Amino acid sequence: MLNKILSDLKPYNAKLVAVSKTRPNEAIQAMYDKGQRIFGENRVPELVEKHEALAKDIEWHLIGHLQSKKAKAIAGFVSCIHSIDSQKLLAIVDKEAAKHDRVIDVLLQFKIAEEETKYGFDLDSANQLLDSESYQTMKNIRVCGVMGMATFTDNKDQVRAEFKNLKRIFDHLRETKFVNNQNFKEISMGMSGDYLIALEEGSTMIRVGSLLFR
Ligand SMILES: *Cc1c(COP(=O)(O)O)cnc(C)c1O
Repeated sequence: MLNKILSDLKPYNAKLVAVSKTRPNEAIQAMYDKGQRIFGENRVPELVEKHEALAKDIEWHLIGHLQSKKAKAIAGFVSCIHSIDSQKLLAIVDKEAAKHDRVIDVLLQFKIAEEETKYGFDLDSANQLLDSESYQTMKNIRVCGVMGMATFTDNKDQVRAEFKNLKRIFDHLRETKFVNNQNFKEISMGMSGDYLIALEEGSTMIRVGSLLFR
């Protein structure tokens, strides 16, 4: 499956985040041996354990909700946090990264699904963050783009429309808040069931788990 997904990605020049949550270290190692280096986890304790056990050149991405108090545990090694969903959380990640003298790549998670989801920005709250004085002082985070999850549905038109919306949000932010900022370039969208649609709609990073590891 890895090769099929990689060949799907190729024309789009997009990256694969291999979502390894709940998978044993042996399964991750096997994927690593095939050349995969970016892995995504959604729980902090599991991420910490796997980081300790596995090769140190793995790029670990946190893709699930992050509680502020758990930022400390991953700040020393995490490569990218896809799930920044509040100004408060971003400020804490910045503070914890500073303690390690690191700059952590982050994505702003947006609510794009129709379902009532708890986590994520809308355009207004993201603008508020990006215009705030507090954001201007954050030197240890780098906002690299946006992340979103489509509604869990068989309705492909709906999924496509939600991805289009995330792309619109990304374009708007890039043109208004990240002019001349080459770091702001990632759109993390697409999972096992919808990654092809996501790629067609501009995804630069797909997060695939079940399809890859079965
Ligand atoms: C589990 C998970 C994925 C991967 O989902 P699959 O359907 O297994 O590919 C992607 N993104 C997030 C945020 C997840 O929690």
